[in-house]
Amino acid sequence: METRLTPEFAASADGRVAESILRACVHCGFCTATCPTYQLLGDELDGPRGRIYQIKQVLEGAQPTRATQLHLDRCLTCRSCETTCPSGVRYAQLVDIGRRVVEARVQRPMAQRAQRWLLREGLSSPLFGPLLRLGRALRALAPASLQDKLASPKPAGAWPQRTHARRVLMLAGCVQPAMAPNINAATARVLDALGVQVVVPAGAGCCGAIRQHLSDHAGALADMRRNIDAWWPLIADGSVEAIVVNASGCGVQVKDYGRELAADPAYADRAARVAALTRDPIELIDPARLAALAPKLPAQRVAWHGPCTLQHGLRLGGRVEALLGALGVDVRLPDEAHLCCGSAGTYSVLQGALSKQLRTRKLKNLTADAPQRVLSANIGCIQHLQAGTTLAVQHWIEFVDEALRG
Ligand code: SF4
Ligand code: SF4
Repeated sequence: METRLTPEFAASADGRVAESILRACVHCGFCTATCPTYQLLGDELDGPRGRIYQIKQVLEGAQPTRATQLHLDRCLTCRSCETTCPSGVRYAQLVDIGRRVVEARVQRPMAQRAQRWLLREGLSSPLFGPLLRLGRALRALAPASLQDKLASPKPAGAWPQRTHARRVLMLAGCVQPAMAPNINAATARVLDALGVQVVVPAGAGCCGAIRQHLSDHAGALADMRRNIDAWWPLIADGSVEAIVVNASGCGVQVKDYGRELAADPAYADRAARVAALTRDPIELIDPARLAALAPKLPAQRVAWHGPCTLQHGLRLGGRVEALLGALGVDVRLPDEAHLCCGSAGTYSVLQGALSKQLRTRKLKNLTADAPQRVLSANIGCIQHLQAGTTLAVQHWIEFVDEALRG
């Protein structure tokens, strides 16, 4: 696509990146067919091609409006369009730049600004856990949009105490330890059974995705630098072989640290090293060794929900299903497996109506074969789907952990 960026953007780093992405787009529209928001709304401006065009117009000098901002807000950043695109358009990077540019030029109403500030500061705060416990106690008084996020979690169980020569770092995450503490513990137990010790250094926190998705790029970069500082001593002395991130939404963010901090001379090399070491748990598990330890997983029919961040972001689609299938689990894949469930970070709060429509559609597809439970790989999807069904929804690593523990 031909571009004529304004001198301001043509001279900026973001503008140059955006221009190279825009030029890769041939405007074919293949991506539109697999975009969840286009499927729901049927409006070109709420599909990837339309959003790309709106960003292009702004970078070429058009004044963005509240409508422009709304069309970008409605994007789930699910990256289904990237998987579909035959030209390799890096849409997520472009929409990230576009949102920042629009945010700086279009003032949101006060209520939206307050809501976004609360999400940004609240979800990544160390006070999130205590506040969540308080919220659970007062669940009946919470707004309807929040009540389904205040269910009590499954207890974590014991953290393994054995030491191993093989060690990995774990990103504990910001909301996950409070919302679903068993996921980190189950990951540590499964890896322990496979001879890998999990360590969680103090000082790390949110991966930066929350601030990034709420257009606080400087805050997101600060989160990334803080995590690198917390992890670096164990990476530098070679005592860990990987960084395990069991929430695919966080994994895709940490995998991006190298690109995000490439222009920061103090962090660029370390960020690239962190990105290169980052692994989803499925990348650390040897199926043959696991099969030897858990020859008989429960004879259950499970539905698999592959998070967008796992299949479109990390490009690890098919791996978990194959592992579970090899262990004898009856894994069912839903129709429209490529479509987002509507969770998408803070999207379920900020775009509640669209999010719920996507959840209903996803649950209908997931439950079509009458599974006994739903498995997934990202805390956001798990919580969001669980709030819409009485069927158990859990992380696949918890399922494997249960099998190992009999
Ligand atoms: S992003 Fe890709 S699929 Fe979509 S219009 Fe551009 S080239 Fe076509
Ligand atoms: S990221 Fe998802 S919601 Fe956004 S334009 Fe692409 S396919 Fe549509």
